[in-house]
Amino acid sequence: MICQACLIDFYEKKVKSTVLKYGMLKGVRSLGVAVSGGKDSMALIRVLSHLFPTINMKAIYIHLGIPEYSDKCEVVARKVCEEVGVELIIHRVSDEGYIIPDFQYTPFKSRICGACGTVKRYHLNRIAYEHGLDAIATGHNLDDTVEVLFELYLRGEVDEIARIRPVSPGIGTKMAARIKPLIEMTEEENLYYVDATNTPYVESWCPLVKGSRMMRRKELIRMIEEKIPGFRHTFFKSHIKRFLPRLEELSRHVQLRECEICGMPTTSNICSYCRLRSRVLRVVEMYGKAGS
Ligand code: SF4
Ligand code: ZN
Repeated sequence: MICQACLIDFYEKKVKSTVLKYGMLKGVRSLGVAVSGGKDSMALIRVLSHLFPTINMKAIYIHLGIPEYSDKCEVVARKVCEEVGVELIIHRVSDEGYIIPDFQYTPFKSRICGACGTVKRYHLNRIAYEHGLDAIATGHNLDDTVEVLFELYLRGEVDEIARIRPVSPGIGTKMAARIKPLIEMTEEENLYYVDATNTPYVESWCPLVKGSRMMRRKELIRMIEEKIPGFRHTFFKSHIKRFLPRLEELSRHVQLRECEICGMPTTSNICSYCRLRSRVLRVVEMYGKAGS
């Protein structure tokens, strides 16, 4: 039986060794930390602010406009950021004329998490640029990573697979580096840490995720882990050590240009966020107002 103090110590040492092993904070003086109110990102902001107090950190919360849920998450994110003494930047997607549930009326209705992911990535990167942040840390854990890899390997998406890594370097001034300090921590470990440190977090699931393919894949991975203990770690290590070096050589090097609408980096004339936004705004126009 491990005591709480040892558990906290073990967790923090493991996160620190992951950060150092992959050189996540090399040259980083200012860091944006994405917070959602969930256990992973609440563990992330607590552990990073504790381990690296000399780095200038700003937490970033993207308010997605999901009724009740987004407000509840904001309250928790504010509370934890206050507790750990990190400034919190809040961006509301409703300021852009839509909310995430509006995607239910677009062709993205069965892939709403994919659309939501594009929205979050875009705003995190944009905020990092506007605030001069060198890198953005996200709370992706081992389970999230294995779930995504599982799907990408099944579909043979080589370019996408090559992008799943602990550190994605920044490009120019408009594309901040991305780091995943919890990529080797399981969901259970993050849960133990928030509980052991009395860190508040939102326990309920986002109401838009119910029955999604992502949830079903996570369930499947949990079942495999029960039958083959260590499956998640083995899968992840094989990806990092065996596949990633070769895939990086094979995957094409993309040429970035500026989006004609927003000016942020993209591979085509219009970035995927601006395309997504124009589709959802058409729906909002049709229904009268955001979220109606
Ligand atoms: Fe967005 Fe899906 Fe997460 Fe809900 S579960 S916040 S829709 S990515
Ligand atoms: Zn754009």
